[in-house]
Amino acid sequence: MTAIPSHLISRITDIVGPDNVTQRIEDLHCYSYDGSGRSQLPELVLFPGDTGQISDIMKLASSHRIPVVPRGAGTGMTGGIVPVEGGIVMVMTKLDAIVEIDTDNQIGIVEPGVITAEFQSAVRKKGLFYPVDPASLKYCSIGGNAAECAGGPSAVKYGVTKDYIMGLEVVLANGDIITTGARTEKSVTGYDLTRLFVGSEGTLGIITKLIVRLLPIPAYKETFLLTSTSLRRTTEMVSEILNHNIKPCTLEYMDKTAIGVVSGFMDNPPPDTTQALLIIEIDGEKSVVSEQAEMFKSLVGGQEEFILRQASSQEEVEQIWQARRAISPSVHKLRPNKIGEDVAVPRSRIPELVEFIENLATELNIIILTFGHAGDGNIHVNIMFDRSVAEDVKRAEKAKDQLFKQTISLGGTLSGEHGIGLSKKPFMRYELNEATLGLMKRIKSLFDPNNILNPGKIFPA
Ligand SMILES: Cc1cc2nc3c(=O)[nH]c(=O)nc-3n(C[C@H](O)[C@H](O)[C@H](O)COP(=O)(O)OP(=O)(O)OC[C@H]3O[C@@H](n4cnc5c(N)ncnc54)[C@H](O)[C@@H]3O)c2cc1C
Repeated sequence: MTAIPSHLISRITDIVGPDNVTQRIEDLHCYSYDGSGRSQLPELVLFPGDTGQISDIMKLASSHRIPVVPRGAGTGMTGGIVPVEGGIVMVMTKLDAIVEIDTDNQIGIVEPGVITAEFQSAVRKKGLFYPVDPASLKYCSIGGNAAECAGGPSAVKYGVTKDYIMGLEVVLANGDIITTGARTEKSVTGYDLTRLFVGSEGTLGIITKLIVRLLPIPAYKETFLLTSTSLRRTTEMVSEILNHNIKPCTLEYMDKTAIGVVSGFMDNPPPDTTQALLIIEIDGEKSVVSEQAEMFKSLVGGQEEFILRQASSQEEVEQIWQARRAISPSVHKLRPNKIGEDVAVPRSRIPELVEFIENLATELNIIILTFGHAGDGNIHVNIMFDRSVAEDVKRAEKAKDQLFKQTISLGGTLSGEHGIGLSKKPFMRYELNEATLGLMKRIKSLFDPNNILNPGKIFPA
């Protein structure tokens, strides 16, 4: 780790202005960690105000080989913004303009520091809809979403971030400013660099502008809560719903433990006998929603393991979502620390995965809760432990290792939406062979030959 020489700090300060640079220890702490709980102090924190400043900083960083970690809102779950090799944390929050909402062509041009929910609400005011809805949407940035390829409950119908990014402006490690994609629905001019940057976790370039696809607002929506006395039947029901030609815009799952930590958010919580539940939403034109809702009701009706409740007011819908979004922050009631994973398996394998996790928790005598975006097979697995108890740490690490092995053997993937960062990099070889990893490393060194952009992430040692 090389210290940044003071003459360089002066030049950087000249570029961004003295109010946008800090070395105060309390600030360094604030920008040292993310939602994973991992942390390391940077040497310098910067708040650049535009693409030109970022380009100038990257030119300096590149010629002096100073690590630079781009940072959005710091809600990432894998240690992606932790500056493990020191250097600069470049905070993108001042690039926070919604540059344009083009209603005729249903696209938005937006800077990366815009908070996702604020962007959604701005486009809604223009009669349009940006569907990507991570549970962290009130806090995370759209640049961070692009860098992680974030998803959310609506992905089952509407897809994830990569399905909405049509083009990007990116500053490369050497300071070059490039643009990818176009503001047209179709573009095959050269390689699809947009897709390469989306999900690249700040290791290939710094995203400074995004062109995003927007949709018309769905006219109508119905929300259902399907509680069950059988965990197995709940997880089987996920595929049954989708295989019955029902196309929900939300198909979320919570096990008994997840329900227990958030049931206080609901005036009318699920009955005590509940082993698991599904939140199902259907949206679209009123006639389509009514027809789909009837198909859904007749599918679950008469099955004694299930109780179906339809939300009767917007307030009830909001309570259900408040409870769902509160799971991650509320789990610490159970144990002080957690390993939060977001594995994904083909939908039909969810019952096997969840059963495996239940057995693993019993075998290791540890609390593990499961919830998440069951409609796309993306199950959040929270392994709870106490970092101060060595035996607990060992059991949690063992559970994580077993979870990844089982996920891969079920045809799944290490991460559905949170990315690899620091926390999953030791497990990359479970999923990718040496040839694949080697190609990814060569792509990284082509974009960033001095390995200064978010070094130490994604690739296993
Ligand atoms: C309570 C909670 C719930 C969550 N729920 C979900 C969920 O439902 N779905 C989901 O997908 N995620 C979820 N997350 C994870 C997290 O919110 C997402 O990964 C989000 O996309 C991160 O955005 P951010 O702005 O906080 O990025 P950060 O954490 O700041 O950064 C994440 C990564 O992106 C890189 N990066 C950030 N900005 C840029 C940029 N402009 N250019 C290049 N690289 C950049 C960083 O270097 C880092 O590697 C949740 C997190 C929390 C705490």
